[in-house]
Amino acid sequence: MAHIVIIGAGIGGMPMAFEMKEQARAEDRVTVISESAKFHFVPSNPWVAVDWRKRKDIELDIAPTLKRKGIELIAQGAQRVHPERQQVELLDGTVVDYDYLVIATGPKLAFDEIPGMGPDGYSQSICHVSHAETAKLNWDRFTADPGPIVVGAVQGASCFGPAYEYAMIMDTDLRRRKIRDQVPMTYVTSEPYIGHLGLGGVGDSKGLLESAMRDRHIKWICNAKTTKIEDGHMFVTEHDDNGQPKKEHVLPFKHSMMLPAFKGVDAVFGIEGLTNPRGFITIDEHQRNPKFTNIFSVGVCVAIPPVEATPIPVGTPKTGFMIESMVTATAHNIREMLDGKEPSHKATWNTVCLADFGDTGAAFVALPQIPPRNVSWFAEGKWVHLAKVAFEKYFMRKMQKGTSEPFYEKMVMDMMGIVKLKDKK
Ligand SMILES: Cc1cc2nc3c(=O)[nH]c(=O)nc-3n(C[C@H](O)[C@H](O)[C@H](O)COP(=O)(O)OP(=O)(O)OC[C@H]3O[C@@H](n4cnc5c(N)ncnc54)[C@H](O)[C@@H]3O)c2cc1C
Repeated sequence: MAHIVIIGAGIGGMPMAFEMKEQARAEDRVTVISESAKFHFVPSNPWVAVDWRKRKDIELDIAPTLKRKGIELIAQGAQRVHPERQQVELLDGTVVDYDYLVIATGPKLAFDEIPGMGPDGYSQSICHVSHAETAKLNWDRFTADPGPIVVGAVQGASCFGPAYEYAMIMDTDLRRRKIRDQVPMTYVTSEPYIGHLGLGGVGDSKGLLESAMRDRHIKWICNAKTTKIEDGHMFVTEHDDNGQPKKEHVLPFKHSMMLPAFKGVDAVFGIEGLTNPRGFITIDEHQRNPKFTNIFSVGVCVAIPPVEATPIPVGTPKTGFMIESMVTATAHNIREMLDGKEPSHKATWNTVCLADFGDTGAAFVALPQIPPRNVSWFAEGKWVHLAKVAFEKYFMRKMQKGTSEPFYEKMVMDMMGIVKLKDKK
């Protein structure tokens, strides 16, 4: 009998638990350690912030499904991983022994790296549903008394899609309220150009996103370092292509949301051999840590190098499609180890993302994620908004049923006949 422990119950952790249970032998135990007994569908957070969704629409109790599937749940945060002892220490001091560990904790949000940033400071966040609920309260006040908006992503950020999404969704919401004319909007980003997305661009993402921003009267500042945020003012240094300071901006705002940089969670930060200097889990091509070979990792907490050097540092995004393939590879690799074999499965490092603009949207497909690519495809249209809604419903249902059925985004897109990914591999 082996005990397989998964830390985290998000987009990576929950499918990991279901797929691991299917791959494990009858006698093995699978346990999820999660700081919350709820699953949240993070991609819908921007909709919560403008009140197009309520928290209850994108939140699920995980205990009933896990129980039905024979997966144990410890609804408590992990305080520290002890790889030498093969133990996870919980917040209450108790320890959980494991034979195999899968770390799926997502990121720690590094708001502290910029004075005044984040929900405890002066800008909003959509990274967690609780932050999005706070942003919604701010949005209510803002729409009653509008003014300038500053939105974007700071230096070291890796998740640019949601920043564009939120800018476009706010624009759509303001147009519906017929107050868009009262709101100057500026997109501030560490990306070297609009549409870089931490991926070196995808297809004509630069042209299409610039055009979408112009259509919506959203100005932008690229190669930007956000130096501090005060009540109603953002301080930004714009840089040239060599990374030299070019212009200082003080941008007034009445509503602001900036995507932070990510780092690893405290439970693993600084464990030699397990994490890189930012606290992300280092893995080999089989999702396995090279030093502690019974530890695997999936999702945003995995260390991935930047796609290319940029004047201001930007990270590489880890999106759902890629996370799903990490999960499948990990479950199969652990099974192989249980059978006394060496792991052989590899994740496909592909990016498929649907970015909602509220009424329309943009989809990008990068196969593989790092250029040069076999497929680099970017398109805009109303169908993307519909596909994103379908993706949300599909994923929530999948979490409720406890199925590990893979390739959800591929299926959504295949079902809609938009793009046949399997033909593009
Ligand atoms: C606003 C936003 C929108 C996004 N939209 C999309 C999209 O449309 N499409 C797409 O493909 N990708 C999207 N992404 C990127 C990515 O898919 C998500 O970030 C996704 O949630 C990552 O999954 P994860 O499992 O790695 O982390 P998470 O979903 O964040 O899950 C981490 C889990 O670990 C738990 N945890 C953390 N620390 C501990 C601890 N110490 N002990 C126990 N539990 C712990 C957390 O509570 C959480 O349950 C988006 C990201 C953001 C931030």
